[in-house]
Parts: sequence; C-alpha cells; structure tokens
Amino acid sequence: MYTIDLSGQVALITGSSRGIGAVIAAGLAAAGASVAINYRTNASAADTVIDEIRAAGGEALRVPGDVSDENAAEAVVKTTADRLGRLDILVNNAGINRDRLVMRMSAADWDEVLTVNLRGTFLPTRFAIPLMVRQRYGRIVNISSVVGLSGNPGQANYAASKAGQIGLTKAVAREVASRSITVNAVAPGFIDDGDAGGMTAGLTDEQRSQALSRIPSGRFGSAADVAAAVLYLVSPGASYTNGQILTIDGGLTA
Ligand code: NAP
Repeated sequence: MYTIDLSGQVALITGSSRGIGAVIAAGLAAAGASVAINYRTNASAADTVIDEIRAAGGEALRVPGDVSDENAAEAVVKTTADRLGRLDILVNNAGINRDRLVMRMSAADWDEVLTVNLRGTFLPTRFAIPLMVRQRYGRIVNISSVVGLSGNPGQANYAASKAGQIGLTKAVAREVASRSITVNAVAPGFIDDGDAGGMTAGLTDEQRSQALSRIPSGRFGSAADVAAAVLYLVSPGASYTNGQILTIDGGLTA
C-alpha cells in the first residue's frame, strides 16, 4: 500500500488562512508535517486554521506577510525555517483575481494580479531554494489553474499569471532537479465547497450551471481534491515527478 508520511518535515503554505490553502495545510499536517500558515491581512482566519490543526494533534506556526513583497517574502521563509528547524515543502497557493474584460481592464488590475500571483510565487521560491539545496531535498508545488492552460474570457490578467506560474515551474524544475528538489504545479478547475471556493463565490447561478454542464464528472471540485494532489506531489515517493502540471478539473480540459 502507498502511504504518505511527512513526519519530521516542515511545510510552508502561502495564503493558507482560508480556502484551498487552509485545506492543503490541514492535509499536510495530518500527514505529519509541521506547517507554517501564511496570509496577508486576516489574522483571525489564520488563528482558526492553526487552532484546528493543533486540536487534531498537529504543529502549526503563524507567518504573516505579503509574499509579493521582497522583504516580507524573505522574512516568511526565514521565520519558517528558523522557528520550525528546516524547510522541506513550499506550496505557493496565495492568489487573487480582478476579473474584467480586457478592454475595460485597468493597468492597476493587471499589475496587482500579476504581482500577487506570479511575483508572489517567484519570491518564496527564490528564498526557499537555497535552503533546499543545502538540505539536498525539497518539494515545491505551485497552485496554478486550468485557466492558465485554456484561458477564460474576463480573466486576461489572472490567466496570464497562471500561465506564467507554469513556465516558472518548468524552468525552476530544470534548475534544481539534480539536487533532489522537485517543482510541480497543480491546475485546479472549478473548486467550490463549504470550506473553500473564494474564487468561485462570485459566479452567478447561470454561470454555475453553464460551468457544470462542461465538467464530465458532473460536479465542482473540492479543496480536498486539490489537497490530495498536492499531498502526492510533496511526498518523498514522488521524487521522479518533476516539472509537471497536474490538472484537477473533473475532466474539464481532457
Ligand atoms: P481564497 O479563498 O481567496 O484565499 C486566498 C488566500 O491567499 C488567503 O489566505 C489570503 O489571505 C491569501 N493571500 C492573498 N494575497 C496574498 C499575499 N499577497 N500574500 C500572502 N497571502 C495572500 O483563494 P482560493 O479560492 O482558495 O484559491 C487559492 C489558490 O488556488 C489561488 O492561487 C487560486 O488562483 C487557485 N485556484 C482557485 C480555484 C477556485 O476555484 N477556487 C481554481 C483554480 C485555482 P488574506 O485573506 O489575509 O489576504
């Protein structure tokens, strides 16, 4: 049987105060990892996630900071490694959207989405890799989106940022593969359940039923579906999976 044991490992999950990131963090903690919970503004949401992980017997640390800011990203990575002793796993999950048709999209909306989603993936990666190289072990997973593969009207900035994460994933995977570090991406489709779905919350009923009709599995995905994919990619046994994009979309892009 294939079991995943992350005991003794340390994981930093960006944007894990709610939504998909919170469920990924709980999943990695349940597998034995000590987890660092990052967020930008909502401290009480992060505290709830931390309390739940601790109540289940896990170890969790609060590491606030805007991952798209160079100094803050460096501090988030450094605090995680200093306080928890090492850094084995980085999940770049923090993300935002500012949806609008391209002809009405402001440069500010473009910059904000590219900055948080793409620069906010680059910076934690840039600061984590020297630690992982020294350990000669590491697992990085970037949370992209199927929109980065197929595009979506009204999401030019978001799609560009998510496609950018895919290029970043493949380039960095080639840089660090010889040091036993893997860099992969997960590309979720429509994710929406009781605990997550921040980015699908704005869909109208009509948009929801249109989306559902295009999904072969006949349902939206859950944050747990995404977390299961991340758990595989960060596991020691996934050492020969590198530079890949794992689509979690119920067959939407099959
Ligand atoms: P969400 O519920 O909106 O949560 C976003 C998280 O990111 C929050 O914890 C937020 O913290 C944090 N965050 C935002 N900007 C940050 C920054 N600059 N620095 C640090 N933390 C920051 O999002 P979600 O729906 O779970 O999505 C999570 C990821 O999955 C995103 O990358 C998204 O693109 C991707 N994704 C989502 C879906 C979907 O259907 N939900 C589909 C495909 C891909 P604060 O609240 O404190 O700002």
